[in-house]
Amino acid sequence: MQTNFSSAQLADPHVAESEKILRKCVHCGFCTATCPTYVTLGNELDSPRGRIYLIKDMLENGRPADKEIVTHIDRCLSCLACMTTCPSGVNYMHLVDHARAHIQETYKRPLLDRLTRSMLAFVLPYPQRFRAALKLAKLGKPFIGLFEKVPALKPLGAMLRLAPTSIPEASPLASPGIHAGQGTQKGRVAILTGCAQSVLDPAINDTTISLLTRLGVEVVVPPGEGCCGALVHHMGREEAALASARQNVDAWTGAIDQGGLDAIIITASGCGTTIKDYGFMLRLDPAYADKAARVSALAKDITEYLASLDLPEPVRKPGTVVAYHSACSMQHGQKIIRQPKELLARAGFIVREPREGHLCCGSAGTYNILQPEISARLRDRKVKNIEATGASIIATGNIGCITQIASAAKLPVVHTVKLLDWAYGGPKPDGVLENSLIAAE
Ligand code: SF4
Ligand code: SF4
Repeated sequence: MQTNFSSAQLADPHVAESEKILRKCVHCGFCTATCPTYVTLGNELDSPRGRIYLIKDMLENGRPADKEIVTHIDRCLSCLACMTTCPSGVNYMHLVDHARAHIQETYKRPLLDRLTRSMLAFVLPYPQRFRAALKLAKLGKPFIGLFEKVPALKPLGAMLRLAPTSIPEASPLASPGIHAGQGTQKGRVAILTGCAQSVLDPAINDTTISLLTRLGVEVVVPPGEGCCGALVHHMGREEAALASARQNVDAWTGAIDQGGLDAIIITASGCGTTIKDYGFMLRLDPAYADKAARVSALAKDITEYLASLDLPEPVRKPGTVVAYHSACSMQHGQKIIRQPKELLARAGFIVREPREGHLCCGSAGTYNILQPEISARLRDRKVKNIEATGASIIATGNIGCITQIASAAKLPVVHTVKLLDWAYGGPKPDGVLENSLIAAE
């Protein structure tokens, strides 16, 4: 695509980077066919190509964002299906991240939208605040219907609808410390404790630590870790996202310096995509660029790391039919396609893949709160496809997808690592799995 940026504009490294991306787009439109919002809404401006034109126009003319561009960029899930499809290698992720930061800087949203976004940015990345907010949400649940009738309050209604009725206790394993591997030492890793996942389902990381240590891997929980920054990054809050990235880079650099690390294990693929991008996000910061690149290179999804180990034979051979939902951040963001399915199959599960597996479930960070209508349409489409597989359980590797799909599916939804842990001799996962797994034992 031809671009017309002035040399003064190109002196801004963010603009220069976006210009390089724009020039790669050849307008072919292949990406429209796999874009969930285009498939759902049928509007070219809600397709990757349409958004690319809007972003180009805004950046080239040095214009502040307007209502039209904000509407269509806000509707983008950042699912990155377009990047998987694009034959020209257009890095839509970095382009839309730049557009979101530009929107945040130049556009004044309506008051309620601003308040909702500020509240999400204040609460979600901080486990203690999030836990307190979930307790409060129980009081608001009777008013969901009321909130959903007022357009400006729909995000509040969606938030309350997604809030679980019971909140698990915080895990002591999430505190800084070292969990020694059993037997012969096979590796040493750090684990991201994270934010929302550690509140909604702390058993995911507990199970990961238990499985890894049984396999002989030492797991470090370094002091100072926090939210990966993805939630605020996708809202265009660049400084907050970079502050989170720097905090984690410091924490993991400390662990690397004190004993070395083979990997930084991430159990939420949404976080994995962002941490693998820290090297790019902090490229302009001389104090952090090298350290961030080193952290990104060490970041591994738990399934990616397990697939690199020499695993023993599983203790159980379940034969349970599992529908594997590949999160967008797993398949499009990190290009991790085969490892989770192969690990499940090797552990004795029968893996089925739903139709339209490339389409997002509508979770997408805070999307299911900020865009509840499109999100619900995508969720229902996803659940229908998953249930058509005839599976008795759903496995996936991202807490956002677990929460989203569980809000509509009749089948239990669990993190992939919980099924693997059980097959390799761990305890039966809590609650939801009991019936499905007992039947197969
Ligand atoms: S990231 Fe997803 S929703 Fe956004 S333009 Fe690409 S395919 Fe469409
Ligand atoms: S598929 Fe790639 S090159 Fe083609 S329109 Fe989409 S972004 Fe541009």
